[in-house]
Amino acid sequence: MPVALVTGGSRGIGAAIAAALAADGYDVAVGYRGGADAAAGVVAAIEATGRRGVALAADVAVEDEAAGLVSATEDALGPIDALVLNAGITRDGLFMRMSSEDWQSVIDTNLTGAFYVTRAALRGMLKRRGGSIVAVSSVVGLTGNPGQANYAAAKAGLIGMVKSLAREAGGRGVRVNAVAPGYIATDMTADLPDTTRDQILGATPLGRLGTPEDVAGVVSFLCSDAAGFITGSVISIDGGLAT
Ligand code: NAP
Repeated sequence: MPVALVTGGSRGIGAAIAAALAADGYDVAVGYRGGADAAAGVVAAIEATGRRGVALAADVAVEDEAAGLVSATEDALGPIDALVLNAGITRDGLFMRMSSEDWQSVIDTNLTGAFYVTRAALRGMLKRRGGSIVAVSSVVGLTGNPGQANYAAAKAGLIGMVKSLAREAGGRGVRVNAVAPGYIATDMTADLPDTTRDQILGATPLGRLGTPEDVAGVVSFLCSDAAGFITGSVISIDGGLAT
């Protein structure tokens, strides 16, 4: 059976991606940092479909833990066919008031964490001459957003990483893509002020927030053979917000 690792798979978008990949026939490792109960719930849902699941705690921003997440996945389930770089945080603040800590923690988790996990998984994919890597970037990485310079920089950085790695690894059959979700209804966006929410809805041609399943369907497609000639791409899933 094919194997997938989803970082940040315990909640929100990552949990939906883990469920979609299980439905596609993957055995799925669910990475998380602190939410053990949530991760166990996602694994139980995976196992209910007849696929294998495992919950693995690791802070992707810590190099050894990120590498350990990959080796623990391979020990539990086997070689990784699909890697989804979804773990992410926000620490919003206006640029002039942004602390160095808030800048660094977002870069460390959202960008450097993705680098650590990918580097650890890549060797096996290159050797086996196949694999699909999908990074969860953001519309904000394409457009910028006031109050999110750290987050936008990390998400734009992911796109540069994906496009570079797609060029390096394509010859060995490894595909590397990104998705750029707009505003998706999860814990991350639960505290948006009503005015901000109204502004976003007004600027979104489809007139609604996205769902985690909206993102999961596209990630599932990018991991599948149907996307066999797609690499280095960034697919927007934003209801038309950035068009
Ligand atoms: P969420 O509900 O806040 O979930 C975040 C997930 O990432 C959790 O599973 C969390 O695990 C994990 N995580 C956070 N820091 C981690 C770390 N250092 N190491 C390992 N895991 C870590 O977020 P979401 O809204 O589903 O977002 C998922 C991804 O989509 C993020 O990369 C986010 O930037 C991106 N995105 C979201 C939106 C949106 O509107 N929601 C839009 C565009 C892009 P614990 O719970 O265990 O801490």
